[in-house]
Amino acid sequence: MAGHSVNFQTGLRSIMKGDIMIAPLRSYLSSPEFKGFDLKVRGIGERAPDYYFHPSEHPQWPVRALWLWMVAPSLIMREPRDPTATLAMTAGSIWHEVVERSLLDIGLLVTNEIGFADEALRSRGKADGLVKEHSGQEAPEELFEFKTMKDMILRQIETLDDFIAKYPTYVMQANEYMRMSGYRKMRFLIMALTFPFDMREFVLDYNPQMAHDVETKYREVHQSIADKRVPMCDGCSPKFHCAARAVCESATDEQLHLIVKNAKPLVEA
Ligand code: SF4
Repeated sequence: MAGHSVNFQTGLRSIMKGDIMIAPLRSYLSSPEFKGFDLKVRGIGERAPDYYFHPSEHPQWPVRALWLWMVAPSLIMREPRDPTATLAMTAGSIWHEVVERSLLDIGLLVTNEIGFADEALRSRGKADGLVKEHSGQEAPEELFEFKTMKDMILRQIETLDDFIAKYPTYVMQANEYMRMSGYRKMRFLIMALTFPFDMREFVLDYNPQMAHDVETKYREVHQSIADKRVPMCDGCSPKFHCAARAVCESATDEQLHLIVKNAKPLVEA
């Protein structure tokens, strides 16, 4: 590949790896076809408790924390807001728009937002899109998710296994979308937030055991609500920052009893 531009070499390497998005996207962004568009920057807002589990955060939680989220969500600790979090989330949402609209324009995505729900277990969420059928597929087979991250972190991720090890939350989120939707693959496009905007593309397969474990936890939450009992917990792990820690450390038995008493079944268990 000597003598070719860095862009050409990057695109070729990506195609040889089996990626379908990176080379066309880079080519589209460097061509006159990219006309630009208006973007509205939205406020971040608060996520008001909606008594649903959300794929982006809840699949990793222990049963007891999930139970508190369902019966007393105001007691669950939210990360304090700071300006850098708002800037990071805004930057991420802008890049989402740029990349997803470009992929739609190129014809690699069927849609850039697709929602799923499991009403029986009260879980719902929206994936970043559906990949158009390709490589002999007769219909779309892959969900799509776009992620951004710091360049220095992306440099540590070369393979799908690196990604799975580094970001179990993203993997569980993707698996939950697949569980609810019936799709069995999710294509990730990951981009660094700074020059030279390095990219990675991975296809994650559905993990039925992981889906079963999450279903079991959600069922146990609903059963605990119906039985009017506080679910047990295996205990805190230093590796997992549990959102229920403040309640678990400070609530008295009497307070927990009051929460149990006032909890209403959300679904028929
Ligand atoms: S704070 Fe610890 S004990 Fe309480 S729900 Fe979370 S992991 Fe379980």
